[in-house]
Amino acid sequence: MRLYEYEAKKLFGKYGIPLPIGGLAKSAKEAEKISGEIGMPVVLKSQVLTGGRGKAGGIKIEDRAEAIPGLAEELFKLKIKGFPVQTLLVEKALEIKKELYLGITINRAEYKITIIASDSGGVDIETVAAEHPEKIHRVELEIDDPFYSFQAIRLAGEIGLPSEKVRDFAKIALGLFEFFKSYDAKLAEINPLVLTGSGDLIAADARVSLDDDALFRHADLKDMGIEKRHEEGELTPRETQAREWGIPYLDLDGDIGMFPGGAGFGIMGNDFIRYFGGQPANFMDSGGGPTPERLSRMLVLLDENPQVKAIFGARFGGISRCDDFAKGVVKFLREHGLSKPMVMRMTGNMWQEGVRIFEEARKESPELFEKIEFHGIEKPIEEIAKRAVELAREAG
Ligand code: GDP
Ligand code: MN
Repeated sequence: MRLYEYEAKKLFGKYGIPLPIGGLAKSAKEAEKISGEIGMPVVLKSQVLTGGRGKAGGIKIEDRAEAIPGLAEELFKLKIKGFPVQTLLVEKALEIKKELYLGITINRAEYKITIIASDSGGVDIETVAAEHPEKIHRVELEIDDPFYSFQAIRLAGEIGLPSEKVRDFAKIALGLFEFFKSYDAKLAEINPLVLTGSGDLIAADARVSLDDDALFRHADLKDMGIEKRHEEGELTPRETQAREWGIPYLDLDGDIGMFPGGAGFGIMGNDFIRYFGGQPANFMDSGGGPTPERLSRMLVLLDENPQVKAIFGARFGGISRCDDFAKGVVKFLREHGLSKPMVMRMTGNMWQEGVRIFEEARKESPELFEKIEFHGIEKPIEEIAKRAVELAREAG
């Protein structure tokens, strides 16, 4: 699980890693107050659980005190990759002479710990690795190996640090390693590690991902307000709602609402939609033997998502029977109503009964079925996926 930059920095501080001075602001007023205390210029940093904040406009450097409240207001209105900015880290701005990279991660393929340093920091390290592999320097350790200062010193030399900075760098690298091991981290990254105009090495950014399964070993994290959270970021409002209802659900970027029966069918459905040129708006799993209530809620999540233009439904009746599936959909149509075009298919256990339930309900209230096309085994799944892509295009 990811930590916020300010949380990661708090932990780095315990291991002697030099950090900019600053404080955390939840309002423009607080940002102004902290700026006043630390003095200009300051950097305002949006705290969200995702990288690339700089590029997204979430980092502002400012030297006029009177501009701070306005800038802070602007950042509080910002959404970065869908995540609202609720706190700002206000720090004394560094005078950057050089941006370096230092990171520690687990090499899963080889069961090793990898320490990576580069003189090209401040940018995406994957890009550096792809375009200039010669600028990436590594130390590979067996899981239980110590990280010796001579190895850290060698890294400092490899990234071309002047000899008087080598000790400082080694101290930071060893501190980061100790943090990494002590907290069961999966990733600990300083990007950029800044060499300032006055010749200091300071961690300008901090990115940490911890192993969720080892959280119980670190009671102090809970005291800091760090508890189990979503791997890549906060939950979206819909993901939160789905979790409350016990439905495995993930928002994606597309416009086709995915209403599958089961995770496997869900994955296949997403593949089909992409193959035919569409973009799924979500991933979802109904779980085994879902109740009509649960199925109806799954549809609510899709129908109320403004991004969704059409809904794709596919049920293969195994343990979960198609007639129960049809009852759930009918329940949704009666109680909620469908506002988006939807195409769906049922095969497997009790599919004829499922289709019959639909046909009967349609006879009773045809207006509820205006936007829904349903099929049984006669139409292959590819056709359903194609049709969903078509419906989304027509609606767009
Ligand atoms: P990220 O984009 O989410 O990784 O956020 P960072 O904290 O790494 O900031 C992005 C970039 O903003 C850095 O690479 C720097 O170029 C710049 N930056 C961050 N803090 C400072 C600072 O204190 N002074 C200056 N001059 N630039 C900064
Ligand atoms: Mn960064």
